[in-house]
Amino acid sequence: MYDLQPKASHFVDGAYVEDTAGAALDVIYPATGQVIAKLHEATDAIIEKAIESGLRAQKEWAATPGRERGRVLTRAAQIIRERNRELSVLETHDTGKPMQETLYVDATSAADAMEYFGGLAATLTGEHIQLGEDWVYTVREALGLCVGIGAWNYPTQIAGWKGAPALACGNALTFKPSEETPLCALKIAEILHEAGAPAGLYNVVQGRGAVGAKLVTDARVAKVSLTGSVPTGRKVYAAAAEGMKHVTMELGGKSPLIIFDDADLETAVSGAILGNFYSSGQVCSNGTRVFVQKGIKEAFLKRLAERVETAKIGDPLDEEVSFGPMVSERQRSIVLSYIEKGQAEGARLITGGNAIEGEGFYIQPTVFADVTDDMTIAKEEIFGPVMSVLDFEDEDDVIARANDTEFGLAAGVFTTNLTCAHRVIGQIKAGSCYINTYNDAPVEAPFGGMKASGVGRENSKEAISHFSEVKSVYVRMGDLEAPY
Ligand code: NAD
Repeated sequence: MYDLQPKASHFVDGAYVEDTAGAALDVIYPATGQVIAKLHEATDAIIEKAIESGLRAQKEWAATPGRERGRVLTRAAQIIRERNRELSVLETHDTGKPMQETLYVDATSAADAMEYFGGLAATLTGEHIQLGEDWVYTVREALGLCVGIGAWNYPTQIAGWKGAPALACGNALTFKPSEETPLCALKIAEILHEAGAPAGLYNVVQGRGAVGAKLVTDARVAKVSLTGSVPTGRKVYAAAAEGMKHVTMELGGKSPLIIFDDADLETAVSGAILGNFYSSGQVCSNGTRVFVQKGIKEAFLKRLAERVETAKIGDPLDEEVSFGPMVSERQRSIVLSYIEKGQAEGARLITGGNAIEGEGFYIQPTVFADVTDDMTIAKEEIFGPVMSVLDFEDEDDVIARANDTEFGLAAGVFTTNLTCAHRVIGQIKAGSCYINTYNDAPVEAPFGGMKASGVGRENSKEAISHFSEVKSVYVRMGDLEAPY
């Protein structure tokens, strides 16, 4: 076992800091159930230090030319890439996700964000609007001190996705990781500091929801970016609205994945596997309602079961392993209770369905067929490896059913008829849509949800507008007249 204990619980004002008066926060390795690090929640004193140092650093940072801000982010990207293996090992311990995943999509994705927004930092400009001889110019300004709050499924990625655009625009960010996975964000803070970010610019404070709530309600905070569940999103959005703060909400989903009879079978099965079992199903954009047209249904189910049963379940540190545990015992029991509901409500179990005996929080990848729209497993976000396969015959009918949900995060279509694919996607209310692929999230493309799944977008140039605001300056060249 690696020594995963950080130097201290928080990274504030350019250094690791501890306050043992904060409630205990034990970090558990999901593959064994053992405690791998012991931390403390942030006390009011730590929160105050984070906010004060953030405000101070932000003033200096906003006055720094964009190209210099960008250089710090680009340097951070380089350090992240150099340390990818170490960061991936840490991510695997924090979350239980297999190294087969973490080596490729976690630290690397944070590095992509640092590079992309590092490049954009020098390009942020306003515009000139001529009004006869008078004119207006606009200035894109930083918001100030921002707060980021993370979920537990992608702790390094979330810390990077929020930090990179925030800093590129001239803001400071204080980030509170999920209490389940507090280790990875500390490394991002450490690396940004090493890359030249001023002390206080990117702070990490630990804690449960109450610590997040204190940050959100602090009057000095200008913006809140949350990745989490819809119920938490409602609370955080409401609290931010009280202070008229800017928000980005990256929330949950129950996304539809629609497979037409003419789809390439192997490609469609790959999409359904990637969209349900990657990260043991703990992905917000997962296509967990798999609508399969009747003509391909039995062939699809047969091939799906064959392939799912070859998943290599085991120690996530073993690079041959392709399927790891759930993040926590609690999350495993939530998922198992959904599996019980699925069976009780009459869905047909195709494969999986059980917890795996022994240490760690493992569940078999599980597929239900003959699921109907009214079943609990078709309506609620499970956030675990449970795929619901629903039947359909008619295109209009499947579009209506796909949209019949409060969520609108993602959607996918598998068909070889491209006209059909675009026609269907054109009518689906979801922020991130896929045709003959699923769950790609490159930094160049906007990511985020419609309806209850979120507000705002992460990644791409869209993120700039969510971490900055525009000032208009009216300039009169001639005399100014007044009625008296
Ligand atoms: P969660 O909602 O339980 O917690 C998210 C974060 O909010 C945690 O850091 C938690 O401590 C904090 N929090 C809780 N109550 C708070 C409050 N009142 N004020 C401020 N902060 C508070 O979510 P989770 O279980 O950690 O993550 C799973 C959820 O996240 C799923 O619903 C998933 O779909 C969603 N998610 C969404 C995206 C996306 O980009 N759309 C990405 C990953 C996960």
